[in-house]
Amino acid sequence: MGISLLDKLTNDFRKFPGIGEKNARKLALFVLTRNRQENEVFIKDLIEIEKNIFKCKECGFIVENGELCQYCQDQNRERKLLIVQNIEDHLLFSGSNLFSGYYHILGGLISPIHGITPDELTIDSLFKRINERKIDEIIFALPASSDGLITSIYIKNLMKEKYPDLKVTKIAEGVPYGKALDEVSLQTINTSLQKRENL
Ligand SMILES: [Zn+2]
Repeated sequence: MGISLLDKLTNDFRKFPGIGEKNARKLALFVLTRNRQENEVFIKDLIEIEKNIFKCKECGFIVENGELCQYCQDQNRERKLLIVQNIEDHLLFSGSNLFSGYYHILGGLISPIHGITPDELTIDSLFKRINERKIDEIIFALPASSDGLITSIYIKNLMKEKYPDLKVTKIAEGVPYGKALDEVSLQTINTSLQKRENL
């Protein structure tokens, strides 16, 4: 006999971040027993997302029905490029509205322990954008972990070879990466952006 539908659904929820076996089962039971109409709306939303949400061709941010996100479409932003590791961190800075340049999502960090190499990150497209967007400052906003440091130093060294005159900085420490904007004060983000240091 195959795996039961309840087990299947539990396994699906198990893949969500922060959801353990017990909570996965709870969510599965909730979905199975709730109003059918609510499930239909949920399914419709998921299908919509699958069809209409893409990654921005330039920076990797979320875009609905288009090739470029709202930031990359805007030609009037400052010629600065803030490098973040993922969409979550992008939302932290872009949601604050305190940065008026462009963003770039690396898609992870170089990690010898986890076997993540530079070619798995969006470094090539980052370099392309420096020219195309006439960027005059690169700002690293990566966690102060060893992977974060390895990644910023690796990219910085490549940049110094290719663009010796480009200004390269990092934001001040103290930003709680991986948190949602409502858990972080705007003051913290503002200070980290204002007090950036040369790299
Ligand atoms: Zn974009």
